[in-house]
Amino acid sequence: MTRDDEPEHSTNDGGTDNRSDATAHSDENDDSTRSDGRSSESESGGTGSDQSGSGVKSGSETEPDSTSIGTTAADDNGGESADHDGESADHDDGTDRDTDGDTDVGTSGTSFDFGSGSRSRTDVDLDVDEVLADEDDEASTGLFDDLLSGEPIFENKEVLRPSYTPHELPHRKDQINKMATILVSALRGETPSNILIYGKTGTGKTASAKFVSQELESTSQKYDVPCEVEYINCEVTDTQYRVLAQLANKFIEKNDRVIGDRLDDLRDLRSAAADGGGALEGTEFASVADVDERIADLESDREEMEEVPMTGWPTDRVYSTFFDAVDYHERVVVIMLDEIDKLVEKSGDDTLYNLSRMNSELANSRISIMGISNDLKFTDFLDPRVKSSLGEEEIVFPPYDANQLRDILQHRSDIAFKPDALTEDVIPLCAAFAAQEHGDARRALDLLRTAGELAERSQADLVEEAHVRQAQDKIELDRVVEVVRTLPTQSKIVLFSIILLEQNGVHNVNTGEVFNIYKRLCEEIDADVLTQRRVTDLISELDMLGIVNAVVVSKGRYGRTKEISLSVPIDETEAVLLSDSRLGDIEDVQPFVQARFDN
Ligand code: ADP
Ligand code: MG
Repeated sequence: MTRDDEPEHSTNDGGTDNRSDATAHSDENDDSTRSDGRSSESESGGTGSDQSGSGVKSGSETEPDSTSIGTTAADDNGGESADHDGESADHDDGTDRDTDGDTDVGTSGTSFDFGSGSRSRTDVDLDVDEVLADEDDEASTGLFDDLLSGEPIFENKEVLRPSYTPHELPHRKDQINKMATILVSALRGETPSNILIYGKTGTGKTASAKFVSQELESTSQKYDVPCEVEYINCEVTDTQYRVLAQLANKFIEKNDRVIGDRLDDLRDLRSAAADGGGALEGTEFASVADVDERIADLESDREEMEEVPMTGWPTDRVYSTFFDAVDYHERVVVIMLDEIDKLVEKSGDDTLYNLSRMNSELANSRISIMGISNDLKFTDFLDPRVKSSLGEEEIVFPPYDANQLRDILQHRSDIAFKPDALTEDVIPLCAAFAAQEHGDARRALDLLRTAGELAERSQADLVEEAHVRQAQDKIELDRVVEVVRTLPTQSKIVLFSIILLEQNGVHNVNTGEVFNIYKRLCEEIDADVLTQRRVTDLISELDMLGIVNAVVVSKGRYGRTKEISLSVPIDETEAVLLSDSRLGDIEDVQPFVQARFDN
């Protein structure tokens, strides 16, 4: 899930740093198709091409020609599954391409040759012995066998993904203990204070909260106390209706299970009692009729619980459905609202208001709210009553420093990588880069994983410092691409104008020059033409996003003007812009650049 990951990258920094990336990238990648789905790559797209990486390696251990098929197919998958992993694989492997003639080594058991097996001569040479040894198995070795066997770098890459909840969270002991100290009341049947957790993105809030909730639930099962935790990510579930509906449906489902178990017991009891003997002795039931009555009650309870549809009900009906469901039996419920600031930003504080006053009305159950926020100031937007109720307890998650990030990475890399797959300087460098990025552990893990993937694809046996630097560039570029891709059309046109000027050797352009080209482009694609003033504003926004750099320079008696230059890699940015269907329609741009001389 991209959204979990991407939006949290700050978009305001690193603008100028990108200049250096620019060169790195334009050398590395001149492919213009890399725009789509890039952001999802780091989360999900990886798998396909990860395997291509392993295929490259492992395949060579068996039979060259089938390897070449395997490799190619996997690369294609990587490319087509809308991420650019495949492409990265392509250019990482680019240097090996010329030696592809080498894949004739060994016997050609098949006529398929996609011509882009990406193995170097050395690999093949080294493997000839094994090839011969394995020849008998040839027939049984399929496409995926090759890809599956022998990965030199990763042991378990999932461990480096954000979806993985680590069992150990170094440097979060204090915060975790504080949460536990507050929530332990739930295990005693009391209502824990509401908790508000703050901290920048990547400081381990979600991981810690999930860890604590798992512990809480497992302990409650161990001691058989009715305590439940519901986790909601408010970035996804971002309206009051959805939050309440999701909660209602979860409790309806749980109640249904409870009722089902109870009915099973009662029916057993009933048939035992019907067989005679003293089955009812010592139970709360005086007669079989009593049991029947209870069964009928439960069945009607079950009927009455109607799932909330995803839309369409009035909110108070959703609320009362949730209320009844949660109050169906005695329990303490901890509701974790992660990214709570997003909910408030989108839908105001009604949800929190309603949830925070529920306890005074619930008869059997109690709820406690744990809000998690990346935004330290979001409570400013809350109704004072909500604010004081929600913030009964506050826990702050400070950013990690480089040493702490090292520990975190070390813990995870022990499980994620094969022994000795990293050179010594890899973890410290990932930690140092991420420490600059406000101590973001997510960034540190992304870097480490991406570095591993790059190493894997370049068929290295070791992840080295250079891979980390490449990974840093790649992640930074991914961020830029995502920002550019999601710009409004008008901003894209403005940015495209700046790019056209730079491509034609005009640097440090001023607003007037940009505006002239912008105007022509708008006319060409039938877009509204904004005023020069608005365009100036859009340029400032691009500056804030780190896409362009706009400095005000004094021109002596001619006054002051803005000099604008691009802060991001030009080719990639252009490619992203052209992937927008409107801008992609512009065929010949030369006349527009010419326009600057006409004005
Ligand atoms: P937040 O919710 O504060 O944005 P997360 O809890 O999602 O941050 O953490 C980001 C990533 O870093 C996750 O993959 C998480 O597992 C990992 N992480 C954060 N802190 C730690 C830690 N102390 N130990 C191990 N992993 C951590
Ligand atoms: Mg989080």
